Parts: sequence; structure tokens; C-alpha cells
Amino acid sequence: MDNNNIQDSITNAYNYLKNQEHQLAIKIFLSIENFTNNIDVVKGLALCYYYTNQHDNAIRYLSTYLLNYPNDYKYRKMLCESLINFKNYEEALEHFILLLPHDSSNSLIKKILVCFKNANFNKENKIIKLNSLIKANDLITEFYCILSELINTEEAISLLNNAKFKIVDNSIILAKLFKLYQSSGNSIESHKICVELLSRKPNNQIYKYYLYRSTFELGNFVEALRLVTQLYNSNPNNFHYSYSQGLCYYELFDLPEAINKLTESKLKANNNSWIFSYNIGLCYMSMGQLETAKSFFIEALSMKPNKPDVIYNLGNIYYSQGNFQKAKEVFSKIMDYSAPTINDSVNELTILNLQNKSIQVTHERVIRDLIIVKKLKKMYNNKCQICATKIPIGKDYYYSEAHHIRPLGKKHSGPDEINNLIILCPNHHTAFDNGCIGVSPLTKEVFQFNGTAIEKIGILHLHPEHKISEECIKYYQTNIFLGRL
Ligand SMILES: [Zn+2]
Repeated sequence: MDNNNIQDSITNAYNYLKNQEHQLAIKIFLSIENFTNNIDVVKGLALCYYYTNQHDNAIRYLSTYLLNYPNDYKYRKMLCESLINFKNYEEALEHFILLLPHDSSNSLIKKILVCFKNANFNKENKIIKLNSLIKANDLITEFYCILSELINTEEAISLLNNAKFKIVDNSIILAKLFKLYQSSGNSIESHKICVELLSRKPNNQIYKYYLYRSTFELGNFVEALRLVTQLYNSNPNNFHYSYSQGLCYYELFDLPEAINKLTESKLKANNNSWIFSYNIGLCYMSMGQLETAKSFFIEALSMKPNKPDVIYNLGNIYYSQGNFQKAKEVFSKIMDYSAPTINDSVNELTILNLQNKSIQVTHERVIRDLIIVKKLKKMYNNKCQICATKIPIGKDYYYSEAHHIRPLGKKHSGPDEINNLIILCPNHHTAFDNGCIGVSPLTKEVFQFNGTAIEKIGILHLHPEHKISEECIKYYQTNIFLGRL
């Protein structure tokens, strides 16, 4: 076959291609394929196979063509399509990464997200790929959002703070940042973000609710009540608003009004959650109306049996009324979980200990999980993790205390989980509570701050089965430990 014949055949085949007679075009291209390295043959076959949905062949010829013309983005897009049709999402993604700097249309982003969702990646792989996507085009909100859900809170906050300056329409990024700050207990930052979001969309109900939440968490209950009352007035049927009003009144010690509002939300929600009865019970308990409180706690337990904080408050009422038998019966619902035989003195000590804990009303209620604490004390044999002291309180019974590294409650919002708990003697517990003990997140070395100097006093003893959260230690070190400077 001479060059002229080949050139004629190529022209011929392209005419068929133009007229959408793909099978004839393919036949001609294939007949000359072995006699020439003219790239138009490869390109023609790529087009024919692509248009006839023969994606395995299309992928082969498109790939060859792109080796010669890597900047032909139209053909790379076609290759992506074929790879998606062939369900090779991983490789499609690689080509999308090359396309991204040149094309960031919504349709392209949508396809990338489909590939990402279907690709067979583990978590680490996902993080690597998302970083490549962001590197290829750092203006796509979706990539930041997905990545922020895969990395830890601290990293996610810095990622999104970086993104918010790059992306002009950054409301979605800000809303995500709000939630991260809120879950990490940084009410000051979450409040700032609400204000910013509302300055753009002053009528957005969700942002208004965010503002109420962060104001509540900052402890400004008067302002929180004002904000949520505005929301309530615009939609009195939403039980979340009357419920939130009830929580504000509770914090402001207006207990009758708190009961009013909580009862209203209970009715509006058709009594569909134990949380209403429980909170109403707490109000009556604070007012000293123990019998009424009891009936609400029992009602809450009928909806949500074995809820530790309800059990513990109900038990406390029986205990304070001197009905120890009944108190023990109620408490045993929690105690029975891990150990069937508990010495009475230990049992009573636990009860006394519990009585001193204040009851807090927050949105996601702070729960002292007695089961976890019991498990941990057993694991450490009641030995202080710093000094190994154990305090005997009877034959074969010892006393120890559980400490949350990052405190629970509104201000710090530490997690009520085993990785945020350590077992201490009362001395070291007090020192910790006052910010006088420091722990290195890395080496677990323990330091004591005496007001002027810091000295190393040992290493935090850790049971092999007990992992503690580095994030919680870091939080404690930066926010509570007095020797931090
Ligand atoms: Zn100790």
C-alpha cells in the first residue's frame, strides 16, 4: 500500500465517520492500521468506537492518541466518559485531575464526584486523591467539604479556614466550619461565624438557629432566649424552638416558665421522646418537688429504658428520701451491666459521689457513663495512673476517681468516652482539675506546675487496652494546663 492509497483511505473513512456510518469507517481504518503510523487513524478509530459505545476499544485508542497529544482536553474528557462507562472510576479520576485546571464546569465536577463515590479507595487513598484534586483546582467547595470529613477536627478546621479565603461564595465552607468549632467546644469562633453568615443572609432560619446555639453555649442565656424567641414567634409550631426556650428558662432559673415551655414542646412533638419528660423532671427536681420529678423520670424510662442519666437522677431521689432499698434497685440497673457482685460500701460511695455532681441541661445532654468508668477502674485496679496509689476502703476494696482529660459540659464539651478518661487518686484528680498537671501528648510524660516552675514527676501509666485521645490531651494542654506558657 503506498502513501497515496493510505491517504485516500483515511479521507474516505473520515467521510463515513462524518455521515455516522461508523461500522464502514472502522472497517477501512482497521484495514490500513498496520501499514501506517498516521495518528489520524488512531484518532478516527477512537472516535468511531466512542460513538458506538465500544468503550474497551475506545479506551485503548483514546489513550494512544493522548500519548501523542496530551493537551487535547476534548479527547481526555471522552476518555473519562469511556472509563466511567467501563466502571474504571479510579483511572477516570486520574484523567479528571489532569482536566481540572482547564475545566471546572459543574457538569465536570459532578462526574468527578460520581467517580470518587464509586472508586474503590480506602480512607488514606481518598485523602491523597482529594489533595490531588484540590491541588489541580483549589476553588471547588465540594472537595474541601469531603476532605474535611475524612481528617481530624484540628486539620479540618485549618483546611476550611484556608479555603474560606480562596472561595468567594463560601457560605457552605463557613457552615461546615461552624459545626466543627461547635463540636470542638470553641463557642467563640462558632459564634463569630454565625454572625458572618447572617450578615450575608439575614433571613436564613438555620443560621439564626446557629446563632442561638452558639450564644447559648457562650453562656449568654438572656440573649439566647431573645434569639430563640424570635424564631419561635416566626414558627410557633416547631417544637425545637419551644424546647430551646425551655432550656434557656432553666438556665435562667425561671423553673415554672421552663416547665411551661418544655410541656408545650412535649405536646407539639406528640410526646415522641424521653428527653421532654426527663427535662421536665429535672425542673421539678430543682424546685424540690421530688414526687412529681419522680413520675416524669419514670415516664422517661418507660420510653427509653436503661438511660443512665435518668436512672441516676431517679435513684438519687430515692436515696435522698432515705429509700435506700429502692435506690439500690434503681441504681442496680446501671451497675448490673458489668459486675454482678459489688460490695455495698463501694456501691454507696459511688452514689454519694454522684450526688455531688451538678446536673446540667444542655442540648446534647452530658451523661456520665457509669459503665465505662467502672470498666476502667477495674482495668487499673483502682490505681492512680500517675502515682500508682490505691486507697483501701474495706477488705479488698479500693477507691479511685475517674477524670475527664477534656472536661465535659458547655465550656469544654469533651467527649464522654473511654479515650478521654483516666483513673486518678483524689490528690492528682484535684491537681488535674486545677490545671496543675501537664501531660505530653507524645511521650505521655507527666509534669507538675507549682505556680512558678514545671517539673517532671513521671509517666502516665497506660494499660495496653486503654488508648487515650491525643486531641483531648492537646486540648487540655492548650486550654487548661496552667504551665502552658
Ligand atoms: Zn496519684
